[in-house]
Amino acid sequence: MAAPDNKPLLEIIGIDKSFGSARILKTCSLNVFRKQTVVVIGPSGSGKSTLLRCVNLLEPADGGNIFFDGIDITRDLRNASKVRRDIGMVFQNFELFQHLSAAENIMLAPMKVSGLSKLDAHDIAMQLLAKVRIPEKADFFPDELSGGQQQRVAIARALAMKPKLMLYDEPTSALDPEMIREVLDVMADLSADGMTSVVVTHEMGFAKRAADQIVFMENGEVIENATSEQFFGGTVNDRARLFLSQIL
Ligand code: ADP
Ligand code: MG
Repeated sequence: MAAPDNKPLLEIIGIDKSFGSARILKTCSLNVFRKQTVVVIGPSGSGKSTLLRCVNLLEPADGGNIFFDGIDITRDLRNASKVRRDIGMVFQNFELFQHLSAAENIMLAPMKVSGLSKLDAHDIAMQLLAKVRIPEKADFFPDELSGGQQQRVAIARALAMKPKLMLYDEPTSALDPEMIREVLDVMADLSADGMTSVVVTHEMGFAKRAADQIVFMENGEVIENATSEQFFGGTVNDRARLFLSQIL
């Protein structure tokens, strides 16, 4: 775990988000420092995905501010394409392009967005497939891969644009138990290499291994924001403790 520098890469300051009359995020704040991994836990419906979607500008926040890499990105959509290039997102259901091979899935953004040649993009894809430990699967299509392999391709695809921040939304919750480990191992490697990450997951083994900070959300609020040492050392708020006792 690297020491943080003193300015957060991502600074979420009191954001609000409603859908209709339902207030889904209530003045949520969170700092993510460079090279740190923040794990977000909390009951279903507590707003975890919405928080990530606001950061990635998939949903506009109604109030508050989000600073990314020193820029207020909250409501200025002129920054959206740059922000999305700099933030890699991994979803529960992989969301690979089914008609493209593993390598082609990874090559797409470098070619289309950065204008790389096919050859250069292929080199990047092969490096990333090695990094996620499936170099032999380059020419396989998603439906020829296991869920764990598909998710590792999705991680490689997100890494292809050299993001400054990775967001993972329950990346292993659609996977059979035997595949969860191989995905978490890749994520833990990336975190150890200094990839700044926000991970929504209930895999507390991963949190223990890779997280610098643990955030507990409930009913759209950040209830707990603790260092890993505080959290696993037992200084946990009662509601977070109750939630943990239910999932462990
Ligand atoms: P979590 O990821 O913690 O399970 P979500 O952020 O997905 O929670 O959802 C929080 C709440 O917001 C839920 O009650 C959900 O039904 C609601 N919600 C999420 N997205 C939308 C949307 N696009 N329109 C209306 N309600 C939504
Ligand atoms: Mg969710």
